[in-house]
Amino acid sequence: MAQPITVSPEALAERVSRIFLAAGLSPLQAETLAATIVAGERDACKSHGIYRIEGCLRTVAAGKVQPQAEPELQDDGSPVVRVDAKGAFSTAAFAVGLPVLVARARQHGLAAMVVNSCTHISALWPEIEAITAEGLAAMAMCPSYATVAPAGGSAPLLGTNPFAFGWPRKDASPYVFDFATSVMARGDVELHRIEGRPLPEGTAVDRDGNPTTDPAEALAGAMLPFGGHKGSAISTMIELLAAAMIGDLTSTEALDYLGTTTLGPHHGELILAFSPERFAAGRGDPFARAETLFQAILGQGARLPSQRRFEARKRAAAEGIPLTAEEVEMLERLERAPFGAQA
Ligand code: NDP
Repeated sequence: MAQPITVSPEALAERVSRIFLAAGLSPLQAETLAATIVAGERDACKSHGIYRIEGCLRTVAAGKVQPQAEPELQDDGSPVVRVDAKGAFSTAAFAVGLPVLVARARQHGLAAMVVNSCTHISALWPEIEAITAEGLAAMAMCPSYATVAPAGGSAPLLGTNPFAFGWPRKDASPYVFDFATSVMARGDVELHRIEGRPLPEGTAVDRDGNPTTDPAEALAGAMLPFGGHKGSAISTMIELLAAAMIGDLTSTEALDYLGTTTLGPHHGELILAFSPERFAAGRGDPFARAETLFQAILGQGARLPSQRRFEARKRAAAEGIPLTAEEVEMLERLERAPFGAQA
């Protein structure tokens, strides 16, 4: 029986990367995917931490991701930077497009990265933080597979469609939020099922469209958008901008392509980067004005989004990432045979 351990983020990233390399991923895909998954574990975002490794490997084993694909930058010099992931994990496509996106946003004030044909299993905040680290504001969004009913509906049509925003701060961690447009991220519903915990009321409906708090029934039925018609409209907007507009799969098409919700979804992603200075055009200091707003929020006793993550990150840097005996056992099992359970 494995023992619980504490491990540095760097050592864990190396370990996870080795598992992906042994599973046949290219070095770029293995490294970027491992870095994103370990960032989730490090920041106490368990639903996007090492629990995701097995889902990635299942997707490789099912042939629904191209492990050796090299994402291709399609650059026509315009502010719309395209990366054809060619079936690779989205993390590799983002890494290929990031330097050009940043350069174009500085040059034009606004630039967009369109990622096509990727497998996307990630939280969006690692990408948002890579852009805010360059002094740019950022937005990212993508569809998922159809597991969410529109407000007033009863059957899956929309994805959990994540939406994220970031604002760079000079002497502090960036302002970042990143959320599913469903009441709960699907990974969290899955964690509730694994841990035998009921869902909060209003999270989901069963396959007959009746409200349920049973995570297994919710996974078989449909989740609900957050904020009723408002979340439903934002989620629909994401289907339009990050699927229909960029010539990629909607959540319904992504589910048809996969035929299951147990594999990482295949679709596109839209990422926007803005230069606050270029938009402000001398009409005041946007960064100073942002600080005034953040201080007013904090002054009311509220917290800024992502602060919980940044605190977990500091703890992980100082003390390491704690892994349970079950998590260590999973890593050891996958190190012995990445496709052991799936092949
Ligand atoms: P949460 O509801 O947990 O958090 C949403 C955001 O709100 C976070 O930035 C969080 O910061 C912040 N927040 C939470 N509580 C407060 C508070 N009291 N005051 C201020 N801010 C707060 O996110 P979700 O469960 O909706 O989504 C989790 C992740 O799942 C996201 O990273 C998303 O990208 C990912 N996802 C990915 C999908 C995909 O297909 N790739 C699909 C759906 C979701 P903090 O983290 O610090 O608590």
